[in-house]
Amino acid sequence: MRALTFVPGSKGTLEVREVPDPEPGQGELLVQGLALGICGTDRELAEGDYGWPPPGEERMVIGHESLGRVLRAPDGSAFSPGDLVVGVVRRPDPEPCGACRRGEFDMCRNGRYTERGIKELDGFGSELWTIEAAYAVRVDPALGELGVLVEPASVVAKAWEQIERIGSRAWFEPRTLLVTGAGPIGLLAALLGRQRGLEVHVLDRSPHGLKSSLAEELGAIYHSSSTLEDFREAKPDIIIECTGAGQLVIDSLTTTAAAGIVCLCGLAPGGRAHRVDAGVMNREIVLENDVVFGTVNANLRHFRAAAAALAEADREWLGRLITRRVPLTRALEAFEPAEDVKAVIDLTA
Ligand code: BGC
Repeated sequence: MRALTFVPGSKGTLEVREVPDPEPGQGELLVQGLALGICGTDRELAEGDYGWPPPGEERMVIGHESLGRVLRAPDGSAFSPGDLVVGVVRRPDPEPCGACRRGEFDMCRNGRYTERGIKELDGFGSELWTIEAAYAVRVDPALGELGVLVEPASVVAKAWEQIERIGSRAWFEPRTLLVTGAGPIGLLAALLGRQRGLEVHVLDRSPHGLKSSLAEELGAIYHSSSTLEDFREAKPDIIIECTGAGQLVIDSLTTTAAAGIVCLCGLAPGGRAHRVDAGVMNREIVLENDVVFGTVNANLRHFRAAAAALAEADREWLGRLITRRVPLTRALEAFEPAEDVKAVIDLTA
């Protein structure tokens, strides 16, 4: 079969290669790969800036935003041939730590977790893949190709769950949400905010165009800007920061209403220093009971919540998030930077 492989740590090694077909182990599904979403993490992997190969290997299969069709399922599993499935990305550390032992491997404490397509496990960028039935998540067949959005939506579903758990420390009836960054994560965060009935603002440096119309079709208000100036007066109750841009991250910490929650989802490279008035930041956070937290990855509960949220969403809108489709034969094109939202590789072409 063909697989999209790379050598972690080495730039320019991404290529489609013939590799042996995988054999499902006990309790595993054999899946035909249908689609693979490409995100910033994959681009970092391809640049050699992130990623760890399986022990004893040099090269690995990339891809963690999966969608496939079950070809073979073990007797007694909840799956049958034909089911559309998405694979959970992370596996618990071998110890396991207390969080991993409780199925909360997204909150792993010792960092020895593994991740499909990222850390020590082959990913889903191949014509066939296998997965433990316990880590497969069923996708509503009506979603079809849009099921490839379940993984990015799972990251957002976790963010929302955490926001709500933090909010419940006291009276919590948020009214306004600001999402910074109108990439796939930001737009999906805005979608889940609208599903919760919030007044949603989306801020992105892109001029009005595809991103603004996607935000506006959700019923959100789009701000074409790279600063939080518009929010100095009417401060949002919640900020979901999806850019990782240093100045936005810093400014978000002092731009929430009292008892505000800032959820940091974006990632940025280091090496860029910013001046901050730590006293002002400290006073604002303490005197207003604000919370700032980071979130990464997602466990099974979040994948299921994501699949349910997407099943409820407008399909035409979700379809417009996928702005580029490339066949596996031309997979490298999906890694080229472009002003689009989500690039997806068709694993059947
Ligand atoms: C993935 C997460 C993963 C993280 C760090 C993200 O792109 O969506 O599942 O935990 O990268 O490796």
